[in-house]
Amino acid sequence: MPDKIHLLPEPLINQIAAGEVVQRPASVVKELLENSLDAGAKNIVLEVRDGGKTYMRVSDDGCGMSPTDARMSFERHATSKIRNADDLYAIHTMGFRGEALASIAAVAQVEMKTRRPEDELGTHIIIHGGKLITQQPTACPPGTTIEVKQLYYNTPARRKFLKSNTTELTHILREFKRIAIPHPEVRFDLIVDDKELFILPATRLKQRIVALFDKKLDEQLIPVREEVDDIAIHGWITLPEAARKKRPESMFFVNNRFVRSPYLHHAVHQAYGELLSDDLHPMYFLLLHIPPTRVDVNVHPTKQEVKFDDEHLIYRYVASAVRHALGQYSLSPLIDFQSTPDFSNPHSHKSSPFPTPATSSPNQKDRSTSRRSDWEQVYEIMRAEVPPNDPPPNPTPSPVLVKTEQFHNRYIFASVKEGVLIVHQQHAFARIYYEELKRQLEAGPMSSQQLVFPHPLDLPPDKILLLEKRIPHLRRLGFAIEPQGSSSYVLQGIPSLLSEWNADPTSWITLLLDAHPDTHSPQGGDALLDQWARSLAVQMASYKRIPLNADERQWLIDRLFECEMPSYDPRGRKCFVTWSLDSLDKMF
Ligand code: ADP
Ligand code: MG
Repeated sequence: MPDKIHLLPEPLINQIAAGEVVQRPASVVKELLENSLDAGAKNIVLEVRDGGKTYMRVSDDGCGMSPTDARMSFERHATSKIRNADDLYAIHTMGFRGEALASIAAVAQVEMKTRRPEDELGTHIIIHGGKLITQQPTACPPGTTIEVKQLYYNTPARRKFLKSNTTELTHILREFKRIAIPHPEVRFDLIVDDKELFILPATRLKQRIVALFDKKLDEQLIPVREEVDDIAIHGWITLPEAARKKRPESMFFVNNRFVRSPYLHHAVHQAYGELLSDDLHPMYFLLLHIPPTRVDVNVHPTKQEVKFDDEHLIYRYVASAVRHALGQYSLSPLIDFQSTPDFSNPHSHKSSPFPTPATSSPNQKDRSTSRRSDWEQVYEIMRAEVPPNDPPPNPTPSPVLVKTEQFHNRYIFASVKEGVLIVHQQHAFARIYYEELKRQLEAGPMSSQQLVFPHPLDLPPDKILLLEKRIPHLRRLGFAIEPQGSSSYVLQGIPSLLSEWNADPTSWITLLLDAHPDTHSPQGGDALLDQWARSLAVQMASYKRIPLNADERQWLIDRLFECEMPSYDPRGRKCFVTWSLDSLDKMF
């Protein structure tokens, strides 16, 4: 028997490789656009016809190629971007495998014109199905133009898998956006079937997003920007109120490369947390920058999946950047009201007769001071509203600095310079309690207050089972639960924070056992405690539809604006709204 194994001819190898790289016209578009960016282009034109099936062209004003490089660029594993294994771990370009042009040329009719700015003449190359047809000098502008015609003309079996022109065009548009968004400084033009579909002049990220998606986004986007050590994130996310039912095209980029990452997607969602119900989706465009050594982009042929050296760290980083952005934005419309930020007589809470939850976390002070400085500006404006000759309405113990009024035991109106601030009393309490609970939980197990009479927990059997699983977590919250007999339990202490609420202790436990944590969260037990903190806070606040005197109103407003996220309660309901004089005037 003769030996059976033989090496495949090069064109066939390229055709097989093309199956991985060139899945559809959109993949060609992606590879060519990435090459233009790698070549340092500032202007890129993409033209497609018939969903890219018959014609695609990318022209750029990048560095161009020498005649030899032009020919070499179509060889498999020919690249100018890496030289050795070390380079593989420090990739700064979009491409590096040196497969794209060879693969594309194997399954289409390709024509390239390229010239380096320093050369007088450029190079014209025609390759059909991997075979060189011509190579000659030609006059052409500096940069590179590549035309790809009749995709899969030589592999009819694959051609059959192409979808309708519209579908293929949709895929092309998606790739185009994924490349145009992280490169707003580059001009992109897109011509589809002889019509200019997009003209995107060089601009900034936000304008690029708005131009590609929806003009309405202009007013719905809030900035994200965070930098810690060697990791940075920036981008734009939509306001919670702009979230949509239909999942929008959100995008994540790592070192300017689009990546698919359900994990990071989850991090963003998690950060919106209570601000959004489960069926609503925010839109986000986030660019993560991280040293190439800390991320592996080489795990997938089209490089859409990445691996980080420390996934959890990145998760927390993304979530906290988004949370921070959401917390920040809400104050800015108020701060715009600011006049003269001269805050010489800070109001003290100590004299407030109102129950102040104990503060225990050591870092709380720093946090509230930084938050406070935002609020001080708003606050200053409120003070300005009190007519100078007014005697303080309540001279002792603490002067009332803001003119407030309570309505129906539910709303507090405060006069601000450019309008009116309306605080929803219960939602504001819930936000304050929630953040207080969280602070205490972060500082360690919460303090517990012994009950004078241990309270038997009278729960149905299924709840008892759940309770047994949750006992360690409940202890962290300050619920002292001890077994009594084989399958019953007694409550010997409750969180000190709850001691002033005269509610039946069993009802707290039932409330907590009924709260469903987000089981997908990588934070496990923390997610459960967070969910519990929300439930408790909302429950505690539900008893707060009560009359508040001027000091108590003041306390509430002060504390609310010291919160990290004063705009929403832990269920995502607004804590306050502002009406500007302008908008009030318009009502009349
Ligand atoms: P890779 O991008 O992975 O290096 P490609 O097959 O996409 O592989 O390209 C091969 C080489 O051809 C690149 O490394 C680059 O040197 C050159 N090249 C491709 N497109 C362009 C272009 N538009 N401008 C300048 N050089 C290019
Ligand atoms: Mg490439």
